[in-house]
Amino acid sequence: MGYRFQRDLQGLENWTTERDVLDTLQDLAITTDFEKIPCRQGTVFDAWGQAYAVRSREPVFYMVERGPGPASLDSALLTQARALGVEVRFNSRLERLAGPGIFAIGPKAADAIAVGYHFDTTMPDGFWTICDNNLAPQGYAYLLTMHGRGTVKSCMFSGFKQEKLYVTRTIEAFRRLVGLEMINPRPHGGVGNFRIPTVAQSGAHPVAGEQAGFQDTLWGFGIRIAIISGVLAARSLLDGGDYNARWRRQFGSMLDTSVVNRAFYNLLGNRGYRWCLRYQERRSDPRAFLRRCYHSSRIKRFFVPLARRRYQSRRKDSSCDHVDCTCVWCRCGTGEPG
Ligand SMILES: Cc1cc2nc3c(=O)[nH]c(=O)nc-3n(C[C@H](O)[C@H](O)[C@H](O)COP(=O)(O)OP(=O)(O)OC[C@H]3O[C@@H](n4cnc5c(N)ncnc54)[C@H](O)[C@@H]3O)c2cc1C
Repeated sequence: MGYRFQRDLQGLENWTTERDVLDTLQDLAITTDFEKIPCRQGTVFDAWGQAYAVRSREPVFYMVERGPGPASLDSALLTQARALGVEVRFNSRLERLAGPGIFAIGPKAADAIAVGYHFDTTMPDGFWTICDNNLAPQGYAYLLTMHGRGTVKSCMFSGFKQEKLYVTRTIEAFRRLVGLEMINPRPHGGVGNFRIPTVAQSGAHPVAGEQAGFQDTLWGFGIRIAIISGVLAARSLLDGGDYNARWRRQFGSMLDTSVVNRAFYNLLGNRGYRWCLRYQERRSDPRAFLRRCYHSSRIKRFFVPLARRRYQSRRKDSSCDHVDCTCVWCRCGTGEPG
């Protein structure tokens, strides 16, 4: 986990449950010994440059660093795994896995891309977002700064061919709106894959994280669900429990709701985003507001089949259904060599 992110700053979301995500990780015996800042206050801009404050009593998310840095989330997980006796092999690409094991090799297609820069900065810690289809079609542009480092990205759900234009506009907008200062900028980007699998299983192997397609389809938050699905998969291997029943119970309805949210968001346009931002600002607590958005309701359940038809992953899964398949990334279904 983490190689593709270099030193990206990301948000560990803290709104889908009342319980704080750090407590949830601790309940699962996952380390929280990584550098983080609790993000309670930030700013979202609409396409006309109007600012909307986000002010929450509890953190809306925790800003963390990804990749190989000494205090990153990934380094903390690596240290914990090694302390438990796990042997980690770097630069070792596995094609097949016989015997028990979990598959978790990340995204298989680009349903969204996030492109921009990492940089050093003297800006204070903070987060800023812009909802504007001219900067990030059907997505959002964001700027995160932590302890002298920063990430600025356009996270787009369409218009990938013009990514350079959107990144240029994103940088200009953050310069104008918040005085973005980038020292030693380094380009960085990545892809996100969203898909709700019927079963998260390949051969006899449970599949976790983004390889399974697990990710918030609305905004692309996938860290928390990758960790939780990994723990559920490991437990199922150990106790013989039904992994598919477990992930469905734990976050299946949240995934369904996020697809409904995505289908809705795709229809909004800049005026719709502005309406949502005004509405959000009038609510007392943005974290509670977001939790309601991500929670299932009768009306959202009604729209799930329609939303799943409207919003389809670009991933065409060619996995076979052989129970004895050992491919880490199965292509047997295409007739290609696996
Ligand atoms: C630019 C960007 C910004 C993001 N920001 C956020 C955010 O702010 N908040 C959030 O929650 N989510 C964010 N996400 C999504 C989140 O990072 C992912 O959903 C999450 O990292 C998925 O974890 P994973 O373990 O499933 O996959 P990954 O983190 O991709 O890990 C898969 C690992 O498998 C390795 N691997 C691949 N193939 C093989 C093979 N054949 N053999 C052995 N190893 C292999 C890879 O090298 C990698 O280390 C972002 C994604 C991107 C691209």
